[in-house]
Amino acid sequence: MNVLEHWIGGLSTPSIDGGTRTGVAPATGGEGATVTQGTPADVDRAVLAAHAARHGWRHIASMERGRILGRVATGIRNAIDELTELEVADTGKPIELARAEIQGAADYFEFYAALVHLPAGDVLDVRPDLHVYTLREPLGVIGVITPWNLPINQAARACAPALAAGNTVVAKPAETTSQTTIALARIASEAGLPDGVFNVVLGRGAVVGTAIVEHPLVRKVAFTGSVPTGQQIGRIAADRILPLTLELGGKSANIVFADADLAFAATEAARAFATNAGQVCSSGTRLLVQRGIEEEFTTLVVEATQAYRPGETLGPMITRSQFETVQEYFEVAAAEGAVLRTGGSVSTDPSLKGGFFVEPTVYSGVDNRMRIAREEVFGPVLVVIPFDTEEEAIALANDSDFGLVGGVFSADISRAFRVAEAFEAGQVYINSWSTQSVQMPFGGHKASGYGREKGIEALAHYSHLKSVSVRITPGRWAR
Ligand code: ADP
Repeated sequence: MNVLEHWIGGLSTPSIDGGTRTGVAPATGGEGATVTQGTPADVDRAVLAAHAARHGWRHIASMERGRILGRVATGIRNAIDELTELEVADTGKPIELARAEIQGAADYFEFYAALVHLPAGDVLDVRPDLHVYTLREPLGVIGVITPWNLPINQAARACAPALAAGNTVVAKPAETTSQTTIALARIASEAGLPDGVFNVVLGRGAVVGTAIVEHPLVRKVAFTGSVPTGQQIGRIAADRILPLTLELGGKSANIVFADADLAFAATEAARAFATNAGQVCSSGTRLLVQRGIEEEFTTLVVEATQAYRPGETLGPMITRSQFETVQEYFEVAAAEGAVLRTGGSVSTDPSLKGGFFVEPTVYSGVDNRMRIAREEVFGPVLVVIPFDTEEEAIALANDSDFGLVGGVFSADISRAFRVAEAFEAGQVYINSWSTQSVQMPFGGHKASGYGREKGIEALAHYSHLKSVSVRITPGRWAR
């Protein structure tokens, strides 16, 4: 049997204890990849390898570090067919979507490869007899814990800036979608990344993930996943005074005013919640529609939603547990009296039997206080909520425990700017629902987390700022 192993110190490495887990292919319900299950002892080996490699990597000339990261990007692009096959096997997602996410992973390495000479620091004007400057320094070993929805993309999103800033990494992908993160580590080694700089430990979150967060030589954890797991990690981190980036859930609002280009806004509203079958933290899952166009616009959105066909343009729920969760929310919505406009059930297509497919789903007649409007479903489920005024739209959008993304569609650009400013959210999209953009800092307000990924900003989250003050003795010529 082919067992996927850890990547430690530049080598494929079996677990010390040797347990394995065989997954389920979400598109068919058949057998998935068999993955070694690490223990804290494997984490310790990986962290020690990363710790040992940290000086060499930090002190490599920045141009050379950039060249290596650039070659990782090229390696990802060259391996796109292989990576797509692995990602599709683990997640069941449509091939085109997987390819786009893998190109996005390469983009991260390309973007940060070009920024290795940053963050440099400043010279500060303090006193004539002092030369004062700031330095950006790597933190050391970074733990990167990622979920199963966009596996290689999210691994690259955290690892590329962490490595560019001179850190070394111990990554842990989700137990159900480990294959592409291991492939990424192999590609990075082949691109010339020194051994030990990028390690991957496989296994359960409660075991391997916890061991990474608890390890005394890990100096920061970048976590993407659910709120409860983020909270658990936060409790351990509090005891260790460990810095975190937490990228958690969302229940993002998309506000459509009556003066918007409704046909375009409807296709964007569908894309916002149906992409990756809604398994995206930044999905636009609350659609706030101005009264007057509510019925017309909801009809357009339903039509646009029906273009996402399970098994074709809409992938399955990636885990059985998520498949069950979404079905529970169908019941919650029905019990709360939401009006089902399309979907609302698992797919009945006989050719998809065994797979974890659900129909893309739209509910109208929803009140923002309902659970279906407040809780993250993490599936292709949209709720439509009416509003009258701009003020009311903003109040509804911000009346959420989350604050990740906001969208606004309006022909009145002043209003769009006002709403963008009023959103309690880390990123806002005006007149189109944006997606992949490496340059745009990404992160949350409130329960959506803290810290920022992407953009130049991410480098600051993977480095310390040190101030140095140097006394200058006056020259004899000085008066
Ligand atoms: P989900 O419930 O959607 O699987 P999680 O937040 O549990 O989302 O998972 C995201 C990542 O966090 C996965 O890699 C998972 O293995 C890991 N994880 C789960 N529980 C813990 C934990 N207690 N400590 C650290 N990592 C964890």
